Amino acid sequence: MGYVNSNEFAANTFDAIVIGSGISGGWAAKELCGKGLKTLVLERGRDVVHLKDYPTATKTPWDFPHRGQIPLSVKQQNPIVERCYAFSEASEHFFVKDKEHPYVQDKPFDWIRGYQVGGKSLLWARQTQRWSKFDFEGPARDGFAVDWPIRYDDLAPWYAYVEQFAGISGNHDGLETLPDGDFLPPWEMNVVEKEIQQRIMANYKDRNVIIGRCAHLTQPKAIHLQQGRGQCQARSLCERGCPFGGYFSSNSSTLPWAAKTGNLTLRPDAVVHSIIYDEKKQKAVGVKVIDALTNKAIEYFAKIIFVNAAALNSNLILLNSTSNRFPNGLGNDNGLLGKYIAFQNYRGSITAGKDGHMDSYYYGRRPTTVMMPNFRNVHKQETDFLRGYMVFYTANRPGWGHFTNGDPIGANYKDTMSEAGPWDVYMMMQGETIPKESNFVQLSNDHKDKWGIPQLRISVDYDDNDERSLKDFLVQGAEMLDKAGCKNIVTNDSKQAPGLDIHEVGGVRMGHDAKTSLLNKWNQLHNCPNVFVTDGACMTSTGTQNPSLTFMALTARAANYAADALKRGEL
Ligand SMILES: Cc1cc2nc3c(=O)[nH]c(=O)nc-3n(C[C@H](O)[C@H](O)[C@H](O)COP(=O)(O)OP(=O)(O)OC[C@H]3O[C@@H](n4cnc5c(N)ncnc54)[C@H](O)[C@@H]3O)c2cc1C
Repeated sequence: MGYVNSNEFAANTFDAIVIGSGISGGWAAKELCGKGLKTLVLERGRDVVHLKDYPTATKTPWDFPHRGQIPLSVKQQNPIVERCYAFSEASEHFFVKDKEHPYVQDKPFDWIRGYQVGGKSLLWARQTQRWSKFDFEGPARDGFAVDWPIRYDDLAPWYAYVEQFAGISGNHDGLETLPDGDFLPPWEMNVVEKEIQQRIMANYKDRNVIIGRCAHLTQPKAIHLQQGRGQCQARSLCERGCPFGGYFSSNSSTLPWAAKTGNLTLRPDAVVHSIIYDEKKQKAVGVKVIDALTNKAIEYFAKIIFVNAAALNSNLILLNSTSNRFPNGLGNDNGLLGKYIAFQNYRGSITAGKDGHMDSYYYGRRPTTVMMPNFRNVHKQETDFLRGYMVFYTANRPGWGHFTNGDPIGANYKDTMSEAGPWDVYMMMQGETIPKESNFVQLSNDHKDKWGIPQLRISVDYDDNDERSLKDFLVQGAEMLDKAGCKNIVTNDSKQAPGLDIHEVGGVRMGHDAKTSLLNKWNQLHNCPNVFVTDGACMTSTGTQNPSLTFMALTARAANYAADALKRGEL
């Protein structure tokens, strides 16, 4: 094993290793520690301690040298991450900068990352919807990817489990296409959103409009207070880290909970290089790590390993885990590792105005939007594209001095500064994309990172199906807003590259069969069952929902299975 010193070997040996401390890794840590397993969480980035390490959380705009804006020079140095709406002077310390961790774009791909304890759980927009039975049945019904080895009913209890702990607000809408969860009280639509809701639902019998569901504590329960979290204050400054713990992050929720068991060892600055496969034991026995600060290689050992480095980095780690048995990457007998990457199509958006309601306003900055679950091809194929899209819209009064056409100076400007201005409406799509073999990632032969690990080469693109789905959304969205009495309706195709949706999935897909998939129904590698992959890499298809709630539920389910299987001596 290379360890002559048995003390060091013992010190580096755990029951379980979790790679990554973001949304899915945090859940793996919580469940495995809760089941009594001594668990090591390896995180490549620095430590970020809840409350202590949120330096901008309580700053006001004038506390920032550029009032929260990213200066031009920083934008020019960071053309990729700069495109993310949440990258600001207040949050930039939680984002990977372009030059820090380069990758190879065979085709344009905006890879947005957060390398620190908590990962992207600090930065996410917290929108959370369950998948429906239609989403799990999709690939088999429509003949793409492979059949999911699980169905909605397999995951439903785990959705409830993670919802109760994380705290998800939402209304009980009773929809087949977006099953209800175990909800905290919902946020409210404002008057214009309600009017649009009523008019859309009156005009289209197949379309539902609901208030968004999100991971915010609208009314904390005992379990949330026990986590030290409090009620969301509707500040919408979330990506700075929340001093109230008002939204779910690994840092405020799962990681401290795991630590309380006494079973957690969290090791920041630990870049996982590869998983160690023992040819004699025919299983994975540990993980090779490079210390990010000293460049020293270290090995850690455990009986089970959870891979939660976020979809594309989990692919990278598995591709880089080569051995005599697995020369092409761990578990990769069928050559499909890294293939069938998918994402969500965010290209379409629509802006409009709405007259009236000048006597109405709203309270605070609500951390969610109005949602329309997918209404395309739900029960059968009806359009010239496969699958569908979710629609989000908001109405607000963004005025406060910005709606004047005059100079931003003088009496007129001062007057308008005290007015909320007319109502604007913004609508956008979140489209399902079809996983394809031609959308893949692989290791670069020529480029390495500063720890000697091959860089990732990303080759992912839109296809005709995405173009047709986008076109349909722009037509349908504009028509719905028109029927809802909106004016000045303008459709837009951002043409943004894949990746900026930050919902990339796949490459290590689940399936029934080791010939056509990498993972079984419990997220174990078919060919190396003590390795579990439960982040986005495991996804067989994308659905139209925001993905992270499903990652949480899959992770909790797999971790409980793994801990029980270990106790039964099966792993
Ligand atoms: C601005 C923004 C808005 C978003 N909005 C939403 C939303 O509304 N709803 C939603 O569902 N999702 C949203 N997402 C996506 C969501 O953040 C991700 O789906 C989620 O964080 C994925 O969880 P994860 O555990 O797979 O990865 P992460 O949370 O990214 O965690 C992965 C961790 O692994 C670490 N890591 C990577 N490689 C290694 C390695 N080699 N060794 C050790 N550690 C490693 C990383 O540093 C990171 O900490 C958003 C993301 C962003 C950035």
